[in-house]
Amino acid sequence: MARRLVDPMMPDLVNAAFEAGAAAAVLNHCRVLYRDKLVRGVSVVSTAFFAAWGFWNLWYYPHLGQPWSGALAVGVCGANLLWIVLMVWYRDRDTAARRRQDLLAHLVAEGVACCHCGGVLKRGQVYCFGCRRTVVAA
Ligand SMILES: [Zn+2]
Repeated sequence: MARRLVDPMMPDLVNAAFEAGAAAAVLNHCRVLYRDKLVRGVSVVSTAFFAAWGFWNLWYYPHLGQPWSGALAVGVCGANLLWIVLMVWYRDRDTAARRRQDLLAHLVAEGVACCHCGGVLKRGQVYCFGCRRTVVAA
């Protein structure tokens, strides 16, 4: 029988290092999302899939006899859960802000809101008493 050249723990340690790297990468996604407060180009559904895979790995790695991978998979799960929470939080805030912006643009176009401060105007009013500026016609 051939002598094993690779320590049996080595594949587990290498995989555990990738798990740690994956957790750091997902935490970087969280950092950027927290900084920008905008959800663009990513999907909660896709991230939920990878989070589910992460939870599977919590059982799977120990089942394979890879305790280090199993331990560091906890970090990936936590990071993915944090990312999902941040995505939902900032997606909803962004949607509400965009709706307010769209409504204000509509009211300005209709001539019933000031284009400078959003204050209420009567139809045909060309001077805003709220911000004391001339209203630009839409
Ligand atoms: Zn105004």
